[in-house]
Amino acid sequence: MIKEHNLNRVVVASCTPRTHEPLFQNTIKEAGLNPYLFEMANIRDQCSWIHMHEIDGATKKAKDLVRMAVAKARLLEPLENLTIDVDQQALVIGGGATGMVAALELAKQGMKVHLVEREIELGGNMRKLHYLTSGEDPSKLAEALSKEVNSNSNIKVHMQTSVKSIDGYVGNFKTTLDNGERVEHGVVILAVGGQEYKPKGEYLYGVNPNVLTLLEFKEKLKKDEIDGDSYVFIQCVGSREEGYPNCSRVCCTGTMTAAIKIKKKSPDAKVFVLFRDIRTYGFREAYYKEAADSGVTFVRFEDDVRPIVRGTENKLGVAVTDEDTGKEITLTADYLILASGTRPYAESEALAPMLKVPMTKEGFFLEAHMKLRPVDFATEGVYLAGLSHGPKFLEESIGQGLAAVSRAMTILSKKTLEAEGIVANLDETLCDGCGICVPTCEYKALEIIIDKKDEKKKLVDVNVGLCKGCGACVGACPSGALTQKGFRDEQIVAMIDAALESTTEEQEVRQ
Ligand SMILES: Cc1cc2nc3c(=O)[nH]c(=O)nc-3n(C[C@H](O)[C@H](O)[C@H](O)COP(=O)(O)OP(=O)(O)OC[C@H]3O[C@@H](n4cnc5c(N)ncnc54)[C@H](O)[C@@H]3O)c2cc1C
Ligand code: SF4
Ligand code: SF4
Repeated sequence: MIKEHNLNRVVVASCTPRTHEPLFQNTIKEAGLNPYLFEMANIRDQCSWIHMHEIDGATKKAKDLVRMAVAKARLLEPLENLTIDVDQQALVIGGGATGMVAALELAKQGMKVHLVEREIELGGNMRKLHYLTSGEDPSKLAEALSKEVNSNSNIKVHMQTSVKSIDGYVGNFKTTLDNGERVEHGVVILAVGGQEYKPKGEYLYGVNPNVLTLLEFKEKLKKDEIDGDSYVFIQCVGSREEGYPNCSRVCCTGTMTAAIKIKKKSPDAKVFVLFRDIRTYGFREAYYKEAADSGVTFVRFEDDVRPIVRGTENKLGVAVTDEDTGKEITLTADYLILASGTRPYAESEALAPMLKVPMTKEGFFLEAHMKLRPVDFATEGVYLAGLSHGPKFLEESIGQGLAAVSRAMTILSKKTLEAEGIVANLDETLCDGCGICVPTCEYKALEIIIDKKDEKKKLVDVNVGLCKGCGACVGACPSGALTQKGFRDEQIVAMIDAALESTTEEQEVRQ
């Protein structure tokens, strides 16, 4: 229709610009029109969704929105997307399973990778797991992956190193490491992981040496340092509690692996699992069944009636009120194993402002959109995967790491990128270099520079690679030197006039 009618503007009144604006813009571009000669009236989110029970009012508002979009469309002008060069290297922060797999996959696709790991060895939690339900030993896989990473000529491993600062933007990041080294890269994959929650004295942890967390117990089991014939597991320690309401996802299956292992080693051992819910989701349910079939006893307790642990000289005593019968059962155990949850590292918080990415209130990193952009951050060129995003199984972390790589490759596979055309624009004749706008920019896109044409004059410089076109600086500039392309004053005023016109017409009709 653009070609047939020789259209020079397109207004769409449907759906939401968040998901559909780029789609329509690409479509009109294919038909030969500049993509910025497009305007959208968001009559879904702003009318049909929020006023679904006020049909007449919503219809009137939809008409107003269309009229406003048309008024602005008349004043739209073609904008150019700037071209930015891409540094085809990646920075991966964190050398656990997720970070190692991501680095190797990027390297296999021909990219240079900087892998930054703060500890003395690669592998993270994978080294502590020892047993998987599949029978594999993840600590061996960690060793093999670590060797592969270290011998890959495309990967530069920075051991015992952390990130000090990150500057730049998609395609052109400049990172300073805490050893003073500077690395340049086009994308970041954040894989800083998480850790096992260490109980704060719950159930005699730290008091009695035979009260262990699940990972501590597995370590001892692996080293053949466990000697006993009675075991009690308590689930959800440090998870699904006040202050930390999330399920840690992996601990129920981890408990099944350990319980089955004990039963295989000593079939007569007494093994009890005290739980609130068993969350061996999906096909992992088979391991719950296997544990039950091998003689593991499951006792459910109520949320607010927690087991009580007493330490005797040789044995531990665990009193639990069975939810089914309401009766208290007293168990004796050589070992009490606490299924401790997964928590983020407190130090990871420092990375959030450097990368300009959000975190959940629990301290994990938050993706841009759970369904539409599950491994992206809103900050372009920064991706996340693994435990730093939340508790998940090894294979889920690896899968997410590979997903982050495929997203990162959409940037790294190109030599240049097109930057957003709607950016702040400076009228140098009006700018007096006062700098009021600089702190208003969340994206650090503004800085005060000396005017090249007049050394006595200061000016603000807009880094269009960083600018997200939010308009905050435009509102702050007292001289009117900054304007936002695609949202100029005349365009906004035309929309307001169109809105007021309809109100005036309505008043006249009423009179
Ligand atoms: C208690 C617990 C029990 C688990 N049980 C199971 C299980 O039974 N089965 C299963 O499949 N999975 C289990 N998992 C999950 C599994 O361990 C992970 O999914 C997997 O190891 C991937 O982790 P990751 O690489 O994302 O993070 P991590 O293993 O945490 O690795 C992150 C790496 O980043 C490094 N790092 C951290 N901060 C920085 C920084 N600022 N700068 C540089 N480097 C940094 C760390 O030193 C570490 O090497 C468990 C996890 C935990 C915590
Ligand atoms: S996986 Fe099981 S033990 Fe872990 S928090 Fe969830 S329900 Fe509790
Ligand atoms: S429009 Fe927003 S992102 Fe761009 S320079 Fe101004 S404040 Fe920064």
